[in-house]
Amino acid sequence: MRSIQVEAVVLKLLDYREADVIATLFTREQGKLRGIAPGARKSRKRFGGSLDLFARLTLTIRLRDGLSGIQEAAIVTLSHHIREELARVALAGYACELTDILLPDGMPNLRYYRLLCALLERLDGAPHSPADRRFFEINLLNILGYRPELERCSVCAAPFDGTRPLTFHPSAHLLTCRGCAGSGRPVTPTIAPLLRSCLSTGRFGAIGFTDDQLADAGLFLDNLIARHTGKELKSLRFLREMG
Ligand SMILES: [Zn+2]
Repeated sequence: MRSIQVEAVVLKLLDYREADVIATLFTREQGKLRGIAPGARKSRKRFGGSLDLFARLTLTIRLRDGLSGIQEAAIVTLSHHIREELARVALAGYACELTDILLPDGMPNLRYYRLLCALLERLDGAPHSPADRRFFEINLLNILGYRPELERCSVCAAPFDGTRPLTFHPSAHLLTCRGCAGSGRPVTPTIAPLLRSCLSTGRFGAIGFTDDQLADAGLFLDNLIARHTGKELKSLRFLREMG
């Protein structure tokens, strides 16, 4: 067994036995893993209060299949300002649960690691903005290889230029232009170029959403995310209440 240094975001914490903690981590170097921190609830010496939800840490880990051993942890950032607003806690919790569900164990993904860190940094430094969730989701789908068609109609190949009326088809999980549609839900024509912009800028807060765009992006992205998670996320109810 070897010890390695990693940087990681804390996705989930579980008290275990009398004094241990089991942490689910998304590491930059090894992808997602679970590690046990012996005595973390009793002794602050080795872990120094670093094992906190949403924290970004450097860790020394003894890598094992299944459950690794956390030997040391030091804080990069605790992101504790997130807790100043319940809506931000809800979004951070949702992002961590999505990461836990959608990312496979032991598969590093540097682009995704950066996206998750950028979201937590944004939530730590700015008041709640509903657009942050949608910006995160479309980038997540793109990075994980689930990017929806946002360039042109899947039926007639006409480009989504922001003026063409669009229809969203929940059962097929896609957008078409309105003329090509059977049944479906009309959505604002600008939704496709808006989501394309979210992918090309890569910076939280750079893209503004109108109320209509937020509602339609929500309809579209909720459908796509649910298709890939395949189950109701625990954090989603809390997030809806906060929204
Ligand atoms: Zn069409």
